[in-house]
Amino acid sequence: MNAERRPRIGVLALQGAVREHVTAIREVGAEPVEVRLPRDLVDLDALILPGGESTTMRHLIDAYNLREPIAAMARAGTPLLGTCAGMILLANRIADGDEPVFGLLDLEVRRNGYGRQLDSFEADLDAPSLGEGPLHGVFIRAPMVSATGPDVEILARDPDGRPVAVRQGRVLATAFHPELTGDRRIHRLLAEMVEGARRPA
Ligand code: GLN
Repeated sequence: MNAERRPRIGVLALQGAVREHVTAIREVGAEPVEVRLPRDLVDLDALILPGGESTTMRHLIDAYNLREPIAAMARAGTPLLGTCAGMILLANRIADGDEPVFGLLDLEVRRNGYGRQLDSFEADLDAPSLGEGPLHGVFIRAPMVSATGPDVEILARDPDGRPVAVRQGRVLATAFHPELTGDRRIHRLLAEMVEGARRPA
């Protein structure tokens, strides 16, 4: 058992918004690990799939043979967090065509669902289960969650009431970029999920 050491949290570093996640991981007291090859996944306590471009990421995940080892980590109960494009990679339904990648979250996402005129926007999000005060969300060509299954817990909603942060078991996802603000509640929750996963059931 490694209950004493700092959790090691990986960030898939093939493409996209990696550096700010690395900073956020340090700020919640965990050790960041940049993941480019299957061997980088060894001994990770959690993994973040960052924002970026989900089509590019999907190709790179297969080019670097990361799909099966990441799926195996999830099956073994390792906590995962997907942000923006990462949420798309975790969803089991992608509206308008694309095949799911990991299919670990029972929800439907629509890529760029907030529309072109809202390429980027920020909003205060209602997130009562994450503690006091709204969560500030930075959305960049964000996916829109168009449906959620019964096992999906909604942690935050946009001003129109749509889910933008969700959890299903040990899989967490946000449509926004939690690494781009100083609010560390999402990364802290991931670190807490690591503690929960380490405890014997
Ligand atoms: N629009 C991107 C996609 O569909 C996601 C954008 C992001 O991660 N900031 O892959």
